[in-house]
Amino acid sequence: MSKEKPAEEVPLEALNPYELRVNLGTKVSESAVQAALRTGDVGFLHSFTTGSTVDGPGVRVVAWTSGCQFRCLYCHNPDTWNMMNGMPVTLERAIEALGKYRHGLRIMSGGFTLSGGEPLMQDRFAARLLTRAKAIGIHTALDTNGFLGERLSDQELDQIDVVLLDIKTWDSARHQRLTGKDVGPTLDFARRLADRKRTIWLRYVLVPGLTDDVDDINQTATFAAGLGNVQRVDVLPFHQMGRYKWKKLGINYTLDNVSAPSPELIERVCRQFTAVGLKAY
Ligand code: SF4
Repeated sequence: MSKEKPAEEVPLEALNPYELRVNLGTKVSESAVQAALRTGDVGFLHSFTTGSTVDGPGVRVVAWTSGCQFRCLYCHNPDTWNMMNGMPVTLERAIEALGKYRHGLRIMSGGFTLSGGEPLMQDRFAARLLTRAKAIGIHTALDTNGFLGERLSDQELDQIDVVLLDIKTWDSARHQRLTGKDVGPTLDFARRLADRKRTIWLRYVLVPGLTDDVDDINQTATFAAGLGNVQRVDVLPFHQMGRYKWKKLGINYTLDNVSAPSPELIERVCRQFTAVGLKAY
């Protein structure tokens, strides 16, 4: 993707989920950014993708927001960390883009997923977009690390059909090393979703040497099973497809020598989740 194109000329739809996009929002003034965050009239989006079968039930349209407060060592989209790398998109333009897919999504038992980055960095835009999508009959999903879950009201949570919740690791010191943040708010959000009987699809990124500790996964699995609202667990194997972005952005990448998990390791981790009664894939 060219850096030179003005944001308004950049198509919402990305070539692929790994397309590098930077500096699309830098011409927006600080006061306009603050207003956008306060009202949700405008959001900062990395891109839209269509036809996803891995971001919630059925076939889905996915909007990828920019901005994330985590710094996961294995992140494959570090160009979404900075909100200003996203393009400013009005709520109305996003809804219009989504509306075009409404009937097709219903036929394919799919829906709309808001992902990132971390969508709740722009919680007003996220809440309004998901609510509007739901109002026009689209199944809604929020893909989140959960850290800012308290920003959504109970009524707003009720507009979300499924939360794809990333629990990175159970151990708090490991979580801090891996993401730069505390795991507590994510777990609190999971408990709140359980209290409100909102469906969770748990996402667990499996990185050899970083998130494959047996005890750690057992604790995560026990916690998840105890919630009672975790419909499935997706064990997502680490890959190196985002590495080039770290290099291009000049960020120190520490996982050069980490391989994708073996089929045996993936199977072991899935078994740890199924052993406590969860469905894991
Ligand atoms: S939470 Fe997601 S987007 Fe944010 S740093 Fe981690 S992997 Fe990247």
